[in-house]
Amino acid sequence: MLTTRPRGTADLLPGEVEKWQYVEERARDLCRRYGYREIRTPLFEHTELFVRSVGAGTDIVEKEMYTFRDRGGRELSLRPEGTAGVVRAFLENGLHAGPQPVKLFYLGPMFRYDRPQAGRLRQFHQFGVEVFGSADPAVDAEVIALTVDFFAELGTPDVQIELNSVGCPECRPVLAERLRRYLAPHLADLCGDCRRRLERSALRVLDCKNRACRALLAGAPTAPDYLCAPCADHFAGLRRHLERDGIGYRLNPRLVRGLDYYTRTAFEITVPGLGAQNALGGGGRYDGLVEECGGPHVPAVGCAIGMERTLLYLAERGVELPARGGPEVYLVEAGAPEGAAADLLRRLRRAGFAADRDYLGRSLKAQMKHAARLGVAFTLILGADEWARGCVAVRHMETGQQEEIPLGDVPAYLRGRLNR
Ligand code: AMP
Repeated sequence: MLTTRPRGTADLLPGEVEKWQYVEERARDLCRRYGYREIRTPLFEHTELFVRSVGAGTDIVEKEMYTFRDRGGRELSLRPEGTAGVVRAFLENGLHAGPQPVKLFYLGPMFRYDRPQAGRLRQFHQFGVEVFGSADPAVDAEVIALTVDFFAELGTPDVQIELNSVGCPECRPVLAERLRRYLAPHLADLCGDCRRRLERSALRVLDCKNRACRALLAGAPTAPDYLCAPCADHFAGLRRHLERDGIGYRLNPRLVRGLDYYTRTAFEITVPGLGAQNALGGGGRYDGLVEECGGPHVPAVGCAIGMERTLLYLAERGVELPARGGPEVYLVEAGAPEGAAADLLRRLRRAGFAADRDYLGRSLKAQMKHAARLGVAFTLILGADEWARGCVAVRHMETGQQEEIPLGDVPAYLRGRLNR
C-alpha cells in the first residue's frame, strides 16, 4: 500500500517528464501565437458547478466524479474537466465585463473515476482552450485550427477532425422527439444506458458504443437534418471557414459529446489505430453555459486535448521528443583546495549551464565513471596542480580529448561548444 500508487494514476519520472514539458511548451507557444492567455483554476470546485454544467444525467457526473465533503461540510468534487471551472472563474472575476472576446487556455490534471486502461486514467491531464464572447463561426474554426496546428507542430499532421452540429435548445427537442419516436418500437432491444438517455438527453443514444444499439440506430434521424435556420447557417459558416483555411474534416452526424453543455458545433480529434481510446481531444460550442451558471448570455466555444493520449500517440508514431535533462557538465574534484570546486560550480550555474558535482566522497576514478553514466558532454577535473596554475582540465566526453583551460575562460569555452 505505502509503495503502490492509487489505481489509474501515474508517476512521471525524469526522462519522461521532459517529453511532457516539451509538449506543454509547444501548447503554450501555440496559444501565445493565437492570442490565448493562461488561466489556472482550482483542482476542486463545488460539486453543484459540475452537476449544473456537465449535466446531472451524464456519465461524468453520475459515475465518475471524485466527490467528497470537506471538514466544513461543503460538497466538493475534483474537477473532471476544465470548462466548468473556467466559466465559473470568468464570471466570478468579472471577465465578462471586460473587452471581448476573452481567449483562455489551461493545462493541468483532471479526475474521473473510470475503468483504467491504456490511454484512460483516473488522474489525467488536459490542454484546453476556451473563447468567450463571440458567436461567430470563425471562432469555432480558429479553435479547430489551433488543435490541428498543435498536432502538426508535434510532428503528427495526420489527425482527423470529426465534425457535427448538435443544434440548440430550439431545434434539439425536435430531433430528440424524432429519435424517441424512431426508437419506440425497439425499446426492449436498447441497452439500459440508452433507455435512460432517451428520456433525458436523447441525442446521446446516437453515440452509444453497444453493437445492438448501433445496429438499431443505423437509419435513425441525426442532428444536421433537424437544425433550425440559425444553427444551419452557423454550421454552414463554420464549414466555409474550414474549407477556406484548408482544414480537412469529416462530417459525423452521430457525433454527440458526453457533456450536456454543447450547442451547435461539436468536434473530435481522432486518429486511426489508437484502439478504443482513439479520441485525442474534443470540443465544441457552449452558448448557454455561462447563463446556466448564473451569468449573462455569453456565447463560447472551446476544446480539450488529452495529454496522455497525445503522448501515447506520438510514441506510437515514433515521433522523437527531445528528452533533454540532467547535467551537461560534471565537475570532478581532484585535490584542489576546499571551496575551489564549489566556487567554479556556482559560476557555471550562474552562467546558465546544468552543472553538478559529487556529494558522496567518491574517488577520482569513481567520479569519472559517474560523469560518464550521467551522459554529460564535458567533465571538468579540478586537480591541485591545475588549480595552482589557475586552470582546470576539460574533457570532452565524446572524443575523450582533454585540454587545460584557464578558470576564467571556462564559461566562454563551454558556451562555444554547447552552442549557447
Ligand atoms: P472529454 O472532456 O471527455 O471530451 O475528453 C477530452 C479528451 O481528454 C479526450 O479526448 C481524451 O484525450 C482525454 N481524456 C478524457 N478522459 C480521459 C481519461 N480518463 N484518461 C485519459 N485521457 C482522458
